Amino acid sequence: MDADATFMAEAMLMAEEALAAGEVPVGCVFIRGNSIIAKARNRTNQLRNATRHAELEAIDEILADSTLTPLGMSTQYPLSDTTLYVTVEPCIMCASALRQLGIKCVFYGCENDRFGGCAGVISVNKRLEHPSHPPYEAIGGYARDEAILILRRFYVTENSNAPVPKSKANRVLKTEILPR
Ligand SMILES: [Zn+2]
Repeated sequence: MDADATFMAEAMLMAEEALAAGEVPVGCVFIRGNSIIAKARNRTNQLRNATRHAELEAIDEILADSTLTPLGMSTQYPLSDTTLYVTVEPCIMCASALRQLGIKCVFYGCENDRFGGCAGVISVNKRLEHPSHPPYEAIGGYARDEAILILRRFYVTENSNAPVPKSKANRVLKTEILPR
């Protein structure tokens, strides 16, 4: 397996962990110098906080660790030598946070048509003009089918957190994936 596939497989393992915990299955890993420095998954249900996306969970870990963000480096762009692999295109919130922290590059699995901040809805990573924060590349299509299928697995079996759970009787897991 090449490095991209290896890191995306690690991100998928985090997405699996999220699924097992009843969370929207999104996982990610942050890479520096060819090693994983942080990995995380969605915790929005557990923490009852809609901002607790996988990316922000991992970023909190990195920024809290003085060995990963030594003084001087943490000033403006602490992620400038760091790459993100995430199973789903970062949302607008995360895409913006990543830009403000100077992420080097993002590789993602499937597009996020409803909330995507790397072109899915708007291109916060690149197209959006910003007076100071440099743009970054976000490239999709890594383990895209797996990323879509795990989301479907979540949406066919879940919504036990909804006040009135919807009937699951006629929900079927669709396995056909249309090309983008
Ligand atoms: Zn997000």
